[in-house]
Amino acid sequence: MKLGSPVLLGIPFDANSSYLRGAAEAPPLIREALRCESSNSWSETGVELSEPSAFLDSGDLRLSPDTAFAVIEAEVASILRKNERPVSLGGDHSITYPIIRAFAGAYPDLTVVHFDAHPDLYDEFQGNRHSHACPFARVMEGGFAKRLIQLGIRTMNDHQRQQAERFGVEVIEMRELPAIAKLKLTGPVYISFDVDVLDPAFAPGISHREPGGMSVREVITHLQAITGNLVGADIVEYNPKQDISGLTAMVCGKILKEILGRMMTR
Ligand code: MN
Ligand code: MN
Repeated sequence: MKLGSPVLLGIPFDANSSYLRGAAEAPPLIREALRCESSNSWSETGVELSEPSAFLDSGDLRLSPDTAFAVIEAEVASILRKNERPVSLGGDHSITYPIIRAFAGAYPDLTVVHFDAHPDLYDEFQGNRHSHACPFARVMEGGFAKRLIQLGIRTMNDHQRQQAERFGVEVIEMRELPAIAKLKLTGPVYISFDVDVLDPAFAPGISHREPGGMSVREVITHLQAITGNLVGADIVEYNPKQDISGLTAMVCGKILKEILGRMMTR
């Protein structure tokens, strides 16, 4: 089956953030950074992203807290029915749960590669089972991904370690990197990219600054190493309210460029 175009989809939603709001404001700023004239429009892998045929853009969803998850899941499902590849921009990490529910309908053998400082495997957090600290517990207990590979984790605790064991999550902690060989994958692959996997020195515009993280270069090297059919991705947890001089927006633009470049490189 030939894979269709990548489609950008802005998700302005941060109601499940446990600490700071702001990730809802990310989508237009990531788009702006992608097109910023300070750089050119080529990925490092040699894909020209300013070609009109390079990718599509569905704009930003309009969401209210009560119905947000249902709207996100329905929109992603509708993109997948067209055989296109959703790349969502913005939001807190809770939004990955409805996205992957939709993917499970189209790709029952999905591998999720999850970049994050945090495992996001809490059964519940502050009384909220849909907190941005919980999406991968919901994904795995629902059986919505065949494999979950986590990269860059540096906040593991006993509860989440038990959850990881219970669900068979393949956790690669920050201290174990690099992990290039573990990214030789087959079948459909989805990348969930939490910006806080980066060291806050590279990406201060996040809600949970966890020192000791990846450099931008390490992220790009790992992204480019992923094999398999890249069928979708998200970039979550960019918080413009915490950013300094638009630095993190540019990092998000670069990572988006490399994800799109990876999707379009044969
Ligand atoms: Mn996360
Ligand atoms: Mn995180």
